[in-house]
Amino acid sequence: MRFYDAHNHLQDERFAGRQAELVAACRPEGVAAMVVNGACEADWPQVAALARQYPDLVRPSFGVHPWYVAECTPAWQATLVRWLDETPGAAIGEIGLDRWKPGLDLPAQEAVFVWQLRLAAARNLPASIHCLQAWGGMFDLLRSEPRPACGFLLHSYGGPVDMVAQLAKLGAYFSLPGYFAHARKQRQRDTFRAVPPDRLLIETDAPDQLLPAGRPAGPGASADETAPRIYTFEDPATGKPLNHPANLRAVYAFAAELFGEPLPALAARVEANFSRLFG
Ligand SMILES: [Zn+2]
Repeated sequence: MRFYDAHNHLQDERFAGRQAELVAACRPEGVAAMVVNGACEADWPQVAALARQYPDLVRPSFGVHPWYVAECTPAWQATLVRWLDETPGAAIGEIGLDRWKPGLDLPAQEAVFVWQLRLAAARNLPASIHCLQAWGGMFDLLRSEPRPACGFLLHSYGGPVDMVAQLAKLGAYFSLPGYFAHARKQRQRDTFRAVPPDRLLIETDAPDQLLPAGRPAGPGASADETAPRIYTFEDPATGKPLNHPANLRAVYAFAAELFGEPLPALAARVEANFSRLFG
C-alpha cells in the first residue's frame, strides 16, 4: 500500500536538520508522497532544497501562513512568484485565516490570503488552507474570490459540519490529522464522516498534531499487534515529543477505523484523491 501525506512541514526548524533520518523512517512505512508546506519567506529555501533532494517523495508548497504575515518583507510577493517559477510541481500553501491565536491582524491576514488565493487560481495550482475560528470569513472569501480549478485543501478541517457540502461544491478537499483521534475531538470526527468520499485526504501535519499514545484505542478497537507504531521526535529545545512524518500509517489506521473501511480500500481512495488534487 502507498500512503500520501497531504500536509506536513518536513522543513520545520524543530527537526533540527535531521530530515534525512525522518525520510529514512518514512520509506519502510509506505509513505509515497508528502506535500511539504512552507509557512514564511524564511523557510521557502529549505522547502525547495527538500524537493530537490527527494524529488520522488516531496511535493513542495510555498505560502505565507497567517501566523507569519507580520514577518513579510516588502518583496514577499515577488519572492513567492520566483519560487513557484523555479520549482517544478510546486503548490501554494500554507495560507489561511486564524482568529484563534491572539494578537494577529485580521485585515492584514485577509489581504495576504486573498493575494495568494488569486495567484493559485490564476496558475491553477492546489492551495493548502489553514483556518481556525474564521470559517464565516473564509467561506465568504472562497465563494466570492477566484479559486483554483484543480481544487484546494482545507487542512485539519474543524469547521461546521453544515459547511462541508457547500465547501466541497466550491472545490474543497478535507485532510484528516491524527490529532483528531484524541477523545475530546468527537465533533471533528463526526464532521469528517460527512466529507464526500472523493474529497478525503490524510495528513500528519508533522511536527505538529501528534496522535494520542496507544493508538488505536477507540471504542470497540481490539488489541492488535499489527497496529502501526507511533514515532516521536524529541524537540531539541523543549524536550517535548513532536509528531513524526512516519506516523502517516498510524493516521491511515485511525481513518480506516473512523470510516469503518478496510485499510486497502481507504488507501486506494485517498491515492486517487491525492493524485486528482496534487497531480
Ligand atoms: Zn500546517
